[in-house]
Amino acid sequence: MKRIAVLSSGGDSPGMNAAIRAVARTCLFNDKECVGVMRGYEGLIDGDYIPLNRAAVGGILHRGGTILKTARSERFKTEEGRKAALSKMRDAGLEGLVVIGGDGSFRGAKLLHDMGMPTIGVPGTIDNDVAGTDETIGFDTAVNTALEAVMRLRDTASSHDRLFIVEVMGRNAGFLALEVAVATGAEYVVVPELPLSIGNLCQKLRVSHENKKSHTLIILAEGVMTANEMKDKLQDTGGYDARVTVLGYIQRGGSPTSFDAILASRMGAYAAESLFIGKSGVMVGNVNHRMVLSELERSWTEQKYLSPEMLGLVEKLN
Ligand code: ADP
Repeated sequence: MKRIAVLSSGGDSPGMNAAIRAVARTCLFNDKECVGVMRGYEGLIDGDYIPLNRAAVGGILHRGGTILKTARSERFKTEEGRKAALSKMRDAGLEGLVVIGGDGSFRGAKLLHDMGMPTIGVPGTIDNDVAGTDETIGFDTAVNTALEAVMRLRDTASSHDRLFIVEVMGRNAGFLALEVAVATGAEYVVVPELPLSIGNLCQKLRVSHENKKSHTLIILAEGVMTANEMKDKLQDTGGYDARVTVLGYIQRGGSPTSFDAILASRMGAYAAESLFIGKSGVMVGNVNHRMVLSELERSWTEQKYLSPEMLGLVEKLN
């Protein structure tokens, strides 16, 4: 294998650049060539490549976003699109591919592997909802970004005896919400994995009030409902007047934390080296602090569960 490609796909996450740099520099270290594919699978179909030499990946380790841009590609979901991508890759002498993205991107990666193109996944998403790895690239940064925002709110909430609902990202998974709740000492966390009873929540809020809590924070994962919907329900059911904050896209931005910069560097290097020794159809994971490979399918066939111990902490420590 002399020449490989790397792309970022799906939702972007802080640390993707560090992973791209690691793939490119590992190629250089091993006397191989690396190209970057622009705009995920869209660029793969169009043959939109840029050379990733030493200078091209200089100064990007701590930059948020991804220099290769990311995109969602409907064309790649068609066989015709995938065939076009493969033939462009073969024409360009590309012998392997690293895909940085979430489980959607890994479905595409698996199909390329099945068509005979050696392909390896690197999990990058702030949601951390990918089985086969303890953490995904960008998750730690998103937790820290949300933590900072929530701590500012806490200051104003405690000065005014207020109830705050903070909506964080997480359409299908509550990992971000749960870590933010534990890290901020929030009173309640509402996640898609667990049923929610507004009646029970109001009951708990009543107890908080009786215990003379100066302020109350609810961390809500966006997939359950919007913070404004929850505000209305709390008003209708319990007469509570909550303030609402939606953190939104700021959670995706910013420089990666040291944890994410290191994780992305390790994962990118491991992915490239795994390709060189003939691995394909697998994703890189960080399990118990070690780099491991597991089948790409795991990312969409296996559910990753929230830690009951962490959920218990929110209940016990509030
Ligand atoms: P993420 O990788 O963050 O989960 P998406 O689910 O949006 O993001 O997937 C990113 C891209 O991966 C899609 O736009 C599409 O090009 C490709 N993809 C997703 N699912 C499939 C699939 N079943 N078959 C082929 N390609 C897919």
